[in-house]
Amino acid sequence: MSVLYQRVALIGLGLIAGSMAHAIRRKGLAGEIVGTARSAETRAVAAEVGFCDQIVDTPAEAVADADLIVLAVPMGAMGAVAAEIAPHLAAGATVTDVGSAKRDVVAQVGPNIPDGVHFIPGHPLAGTEHSGPRSGFAELFDNRYVLLTPVEGSDPAAVDKLRDLWIGCGANVENMDPDHHDLVLAVTSHTPHLIAYTMVGVADDLRRVTDSEVIKYSAAGFRDFTRIAASDPTMWRDVFLTNKDATLEILGRFTEELFALQRAIRTGDGDLLHEYFTRTRAIRRGIIEAGQDTDAPNFGRGISRNEGAE
Ligand code: NAP
Repeated sequence: MSVLYQRVALIGLGLIAGSMAHAIRRKGLAGEIVGTARSAETRAVAAEVGFCDQIVDTPAEAVADADLIVLAVPMGAMGAVAAEIAPHLAAGATVTDVGSAKRDVVAQVGPNIPDGVHFIPGHPLAGTEHSGPRSGFAELFDNRYVLLTPVEGSDPAAVDKLRDLWIGCGANVENMDPDHHDLVLAVTSHTPHLIAYTMVGVADDLRRVTDSEVIKYSAAGFRDFTRIAASDPTMWRDVFLTNKDATLEILGRFTEELFALQRAIRTGDGDLLHEYFTRTRAIRRGIIEAGQDTDAPNFGRGISRNEGAE
């Protein structure tokens, strides 16, 4: 693939920005990549890992002459960063972001973007529980989805070019309305994370089961909750603060269903439980058929088939 952008500026140098840089380099999609991060420590580590051609001290320096600017900071910092870079943006440049909620980014960042600069919010549906400049890798976006949420009046040519960049990074790209994005993500990511955080918190609080038992017997399902609940606290705090409405809507529905299942257990309604679990099993099959997870036993961990079967 050929060079799509002459100078890509990454603001924030963590998991997502680092992975983008590795993936952009893998296919030679940018003339140069310049990066910056809030702390000198992160900038130094990023320089050592070497996924940018240049590391600079400030966002203003990073965006100068850049034709693509990627905001890859926690959601709560997007507005302040946008205000800081606004006076330094080159005419015709594209500003995008990778934030996990979209309505809030549109509201925070949009008003700061000057005329003549394209603003195209985006969200790669890919991540791990790791963070920081050492955690990125080129394959993170392979066969994952990136949702772009162009705003009214977005230039179609600028949207197509950004789409090509993400395709070059290995992703499938779709456009979506920001509010719909937030509802979809509340179902597929945000509420599940909250449930995982809660379940791990419950285990931690439960004094009748010792910590060593929780750790020792974790393969019976709990281990997968702990992986999700190890995700970055700052990022996830901001996800819930910025995707509040959709998450509360899905949590409300979740609580109702949970009560229905609780009642079925109390009343011994095995038919209801069986029917429910049959329906949910079909969703898992759909995810595997769509190539979004592995069918290997125990998520391909390659250990005892009995593990995780409970
Ligand atoms: P990360 O690894 O923790 O990196 C965050 C970066 O933002 C760091 O360079 C950090 O700089 C900087 N930063 C933190 N607070 C800041 C502030 N107040 N002002 C300016 N810069 C600040 O995070 P990440 O996982 O790459 O996430 C970045 C964005 O991607 C978030 O908006 C998140 O919602 C989104 N996202 C994450 C995932 C995921 O699974 N992780 C998936 C999809 C989208 P210092 O290190 O110097 O503090």
